[in-house]
Amino acid sequence: MNKPILLSTPHMGDDELEFVKEAFDTNWIAPVGPHVDAFEQEFCQAIGASHGAAVSSGTAAIHLALRLVGVEPGDEVFCSTLTFIASASPITYLGAKPVFIDSDRISWNMNPELLWGALQRRARTGNLPKAVLVVNLYGQSADLDPILEACNHYGIPLIEDAAESLGATYKGRASGTFGYMGIYSFNGNKIITTSGGGMLVSRDEEAIAKARFLATQARDHAPHYQHSQIGYNYRLSNVLAGIGRGQLRVLDRRVAARRRNFHIYQQSLGHLPGIKFMPEPSFGRATHWLTCLTIDGDAFGADREQIRLSLAQQQIESRPVWKPLHLQPVFADCECIGGDVSSDLFTKGLCLPSGSNLTDEDLQRTIAAITALYNENRCKNPLLLC
Ligand SMILES: *Cc1c(COP(=O)(O)O)cnc(C)c1O
Repeated sequence: MNKPILLSTPHMGDDELEFVKEAFDTNWIAPVGPHVDAFEQEFCQAIGASHGAAVSSGTAAIHLALRLVGVEPGDEVFCSTLTFIASASPITYLGAKPVFIDSDRISWNMNPELLWGALQRRARTGNLPKAVLVVNLYGQSADLDPILEACNHYGIPLIEDAAESLGATYKGRASGTFGYMGIYSFNGNKIITTSGGGMLVSRDEEAIAKARFLATQARDHAPHYQHSQIGYNYRLSNVLAGIGRGQLRVLDRRVAARRRNFHIYQQSLGHLPGIKFMPEPSFGRATHWLTCLTIDGDAFGADREQIRLSLAQQQIESRPVWKPLHLQPVFADCECIGGDVSSDLFTKGLCLPSGSNLTDEDLQRTIAAITALYNENRCKNPLLLC
């Protein structure tokens, strides 16, 4: 039997276990501690952010960011539609409603023109959203300048979901540091992992201090337990922060390995009819956290689902591109601005095994499986020579 090749798995470096051991040796087995403080500082230094709060997940970080910009029941938040549900679920935790915005073709992320148009219309009718949440998908930044310009023009805070784009840049600066707040995830499948965790960053020091306060049950300064607000239990464990410190040290190598995967796939498969790789616009440098491509079934001879199933039979895990949130049953009553681009990317899009720990053999097996499927289907087509 072939060894399974998975989509994206944890890849530890040399120092993680030492940091974890230190947490055990000093008995800092708590959601506070020296690793948490150091992880926040080292993380901010690595990406050029001002202030950061380490939390238990990326989802928690988004929830805190939305709460900090004042999202309340009945509000609306504009949100990218082509993304994982965790970008939008915290909007509903606060009793607010997402309004989805379609992707552009050049980055697969929020289309800035659609955002401008939607904000213009809303300004005219006096019902602007409380926040805009832009997602930097699959290791690639959205076109952040025009998005930020639109938000600034209407005085709306921008939150960047950079859960998938740690290590990516936009015009030379780290993805996730453009908005008023940015969030990252260290879930097991992300580019670096703490097994579970997240980070909230901002230039606003007070807001980050408030985030730490809310993330530890909003406990007031008093010798007894006193609370004047409702908070959450969202702080990151000191043990896991130790893993994060080790992972940060290898981030650049992880980015290089994922970019290399992408280029090998592109060189070997990019010439096949019907196959197009996710473009990398010149405004940024992507990490290619996941290598994504679209398949035109007619030109290739097999569609996205046929390729996925054929790979699965050979123990190779691939996955459809995110199903846009405006097509999710749970958001059936939510408005979407545009929607055709993301729904087309969903129908045709596939994510290939992309871990930084894939071997050349893993890559070649995946490439050979897709090439073989193309050749097989070509021979079935009487109009083509084979
Ligand atoms: C993973 C992810 C999240 C959530 O992060 P968790 O740490 O898993 O809670 C949010 N948004 C996007 C786009 C993600 O990929």
